Amino acid sequence: MPEILSSLFSSNPYFSAGIGVLGFGAGLAALRQGLVRGSYLARRKLLVSLEIPSKDKSYQWFLHWMSKQLSNNSHSHTHQYAVQTSFKQHDNGSISTTFSLIPGPGKHYFKWRGVWLQVERQRDAKLLDITSGSPWEIVTLTTLSRDKYIFSELLQESKKLALEQQEGKTVIYTSWGPEWRPFGLPRKRRLLDSVILDKGIKERIIKDVKEFINNGIWYNERGIPYRRGYLLYGPPGSGKSSFIQALAGELEYNICILNLSERGLTDDRLNHLLSNAPERSIMLLEDIDATFTQKRQPTDQQGYHSMVTFSGLLNALDGVASSEERIIFMTTNHVELLDKALVRPGRIDVKELFDNASDHQIKTMFLRFYEGENQLAEEFVQSVKGKKVSMAQLQGHFVFYKNDPKCAVRYSNSFIQDA
Ligand code: ADP
Repeated sequence: MPEILSSLFSSNPYFSAGIGVLGFGAGLAALRQGLVRGSYLARRKLLVSLEIPSKDKSYQWFLHWMSKQLSNNSHSHTHQYAVQTSFKQHDNGSISTTFSLIPGPGKHYFKWRGVWLQVERQRDAKLLDITSGSPWEIVTLTTLSRDKYIFSELLQESKKLALEQQEGKTVIYTSWGPEWRPFGLPRKRRLLDSVILDKGIKERIIKDVKEFINNGIWYNERGIPYRRGYLLYGPPGSGKSSFIQALAGELEYNICILNLSERGLTDDRLNHLLSNAPERSIMLLEDIDATFTQKRQPTDQQGYHSMVTFSGLLNALDGVASSEERIIFMTTNHVELLDKALVRPGRIDVKELFDNASDHQIKTMFLRFYEGENQLAEEFVQSVKGKKVSMAQLQGHFVFYKNDPKCAVRYSNSFIQDA
């Protein structure tokens, strides 16, 4: 039987041709597979890659560093850019905007310190980062195996650049889903001297905060939650927010602003945010009365109900039980509306009134604007005596007459009428 088959195949030209084609095809397939395997092995042997997922801290550092490279480096080959906009709010309230170009999704090539690198930015529209709700992204850096040392140099460099940008500045964080994210560019530190308070207030708070910061071990040894709550209350424009900013600058801390009226903020998220703040930061809950008055009906300006409940807030404040230090500042214009449960020690340990300008504050502020004009300063104090004047109003008045102290005195009534 086998002989019959073999004679049949060998004598049949169609069979022989067919087998020839088959063999050729199989050979080609094997060659192709070999090439693929070969190139895969070569890639594995010759190239190294580093993945940076968007979740990682170094991701933002790297993109920022990369945007600098794109603007300075003549050896970069990028055709697809993305824009990143940052805001900077100045002390006078104005906002400036900067745009920087960062590599968009796709592949980019550039040379750094004599080494060629490929940067591939991939965005997965279907996959969401569940913590922030933004598309999942990965940046993959590839270079030759022998140059892999460049990765750690590059990461160090981007970290250095990011930290340099923050040096001497205060970073303001706002909540983004359950995460904290920097809001705009780091701001220049506000100097404590620029905030003029009535005698003793500044010193009292600073002493208390510093003592708290230096006593971590004391709290730890006694099993007491390492947190301290401060309430600054008083009329608007008395320097509550400005002082907290200056205090953060003095301590070299950052500020996390939590808006309790934010839509979609739930008790769980609030709890999570309070327990997971960035290191060395002051937690700031502004205008706490606007969210929770005695009626406990949280609504924001557009009439939307915040989902945070009053008991949720109390739980979150109490629940910061981790051994990590937590400094919480709350501000309010209407302390009388606050529920007693919130204002008790453990939740609020220190209360300070930031009132309308006292004689001492008015005089100091006057002399800050018009150095050496002691006589006029006295006259100014007398002219506004007994009237309710906020420091913000005074500031506005002196800015208006910035080169003319005499007019500032003469027209001292002009702004008081609005008070
Ligand atoms: P608050 O938080 O009490 O409403 P802000 O701190 O927002 O007041 O102050 C508003 C403006 O008034 C800021 O521009 C700030 O510079 C100025 N200001 C208010 N109080 C003071 C103060 N005590 N010393 C110096 N400037 C002040």
